[in-house]
Amino acid sequence: MSQTATSSAADIVPILCGGQWLHVDTDQNSDVFNPSTGTVIGSVPLCGSDQTCQVVEAASGALANWSSTSVIERARIMFRFRQLMEQNFDELAQLVTREHGKTLAESRAEVQRGLEMVEFACGIPSLIVGESMANIAPDVDAETIRHPVGVCVGITPYNFPAMVPLWMFPVALVCGNTFVLKPSEKVPLSAVRLGELLVESGLPSGVFSIVHGNRDCVETLIKHPAVSAISFVGSTNVAREIYRLGTQLGKRVQAAGGAKNHLVIMPDADLDQSVKALSASAYGCAGQRCMAGSVAIAVGNVGDPLVSGLCEHADQLRVAPSDGNEDVDMGPLIRQEHRDRVAGYLDVADQDGAKVALDGRSGFESERFLLGPSVVDRVEIGMRVWKEEIFGPVLSVVRVTNLEEALAIGRQCEYGNGASIFTRDGHTAREFKQHFNAGMIGINVGVPAPMAWFPFTGWNQSFFGDLHIQGTEGVQFYTRQKMTLTRWFASADDSHHDPVWKSNR
Ligand code: NAD
Repeated sequence: MSQTATSSAADIVPILCGGQWLHVDTDQNSDVFNPSTGTVIGSVPLCGSDQTCQVVEAASGALANWSSTSVIERARIMFRFRQLMEQNFDELAQLVTREHGKTLAESRAEVQRGLEMVEFACGIPSLIVGESMANIAPDVDAETIRHPVGVCVGITPYNFPAMVPLWMFPVALVCGNTFVLKPSEKVPLSAVRLGELLVESGLPSGVFSIVHGNRDCVETLIKHPAVSAISFVGSTNVAREIYRLGTQLGKRVQAAGGAKNHLVIMPDADLDQSVKALSASAYGCAGQRCMAGSVAIAVGNVGDPLVSGLCEHADQLRVAPSDGNEDVDMGPLIRQEHRDRVAGYLDVADQDGAKVALDGRSGFESERFLLGPSVVDRVEIGMRVWKEEIFGPVLSVVRVTNLEEALAIGRQCEYGNGASIFTRDGHTAREFKQHFNAGMIGINVGVPAPMAWFPFTGWNQSFFGDLHIQGTEGVQFYTRQKMTLTRWFASADDSHHDPVWKSNR
């Protein structure tokens, strides 16, 4: 047991339980890699049921005091956390790059997006106010008050080690809940550093906790009777399962899943700008984003110039290890197995009859984690590269003759996170916005990911639940309303009727 979470390379990554950083003794561990070097930089304990329950019980024990602390004071701690994040901004970004592999510029953008969630959470006192109405019936007043839901759990993916946890806990905490974070076992270090800063901000012990693990740990968290709400972000199959299990137990669940995002390029689009936006969307973070563009739909005669523009642009991207190197546009993938899986889709595309126009394997054949950008042309609906989430730097191109065909493709896609159109025509853009089958729409924007003040509104198999993450929906998810009717008797009042439960008929 130690007071600080800071540990040297390849150390056991601690959990945070009841305000204490603890080193868990278990024979089940998972390696944390630096994808830039391929070396192991930490070892995460995969906590079993006993350790996981201990963390939940500490969170449960801290709930009564924290939920009755004024929302102003809870927000004040978040202001201090924000300040500490600012002071440690570069270190946080470097840590994200170190354990994830995205470029330093991408990590800075990630930490910035996360910081904005903290800023949003600082404003929750204005958002959490209830409603009231005087004289809703004779001498009766009605009011609603937002209460915390209890112990909340967050289970997060590897692709945004800092930002996705920050989508959840700042809002949950200021709303008066206690929170247990289960970060991805592939990237736990950024979460631990955020935990250290939260402790330094003056958050009382047990209000925020971190536990590590995989399926067993997650199931224990969901099934624990003290847990009231579960936020999940990850792949669709796991999201669906977590939603099913949590809701079966009567818990509140928001579960964001995978995606397959379409980018439609109309014949009147600014081709040069569109190519740059598509390239940034498909190859940013090496394609490991749930809002990454993965299918370009070329409308009319735009196919040939689009494919040659994309190949030319993508071929110039500097693909290299990102840790300590600013001269890089695309870093490594998270693991060798994932890199090989993504590269394998190029063979699948070839076998299915598509045309690999730019092969990201060339020049990277002997690399373990690195893969260049690929463009796959002549993709047809139903092919695996169109249907499945690849989650790597591979952009498929489908050719259609008009917007209606593009909209029809959207209707056949099982996912529904983002979709964008590139056009100069307002009416075309409006048709697309109204009718494309996805929850987040971009018009001449390659990655239409909402910022902290708007909800992350995935549709179809990209989201399971009712209230989305971020924005005011996040505040609604982490609170429940209580409605009170009040009537005060005047001293001379001798009436005994029920003022509400009556009819004038
Ligand atoms: P993942 O589903 O493998 O893991 C996510 C989390 O779930 C991790 O913490 C992991 O430990 C845990 N987990 C894994 N298998 C589990 C199981 N069987 N039971 C219980 N818990 C389990 O996802 P990933 O590979 O870490 O992340 C990439 C995925 O996340 C992609 O599909 C991506 O699209 C998605 N994602 C979605 C969004 C969104 O907002 N929709 C945002 C980011 C990432």
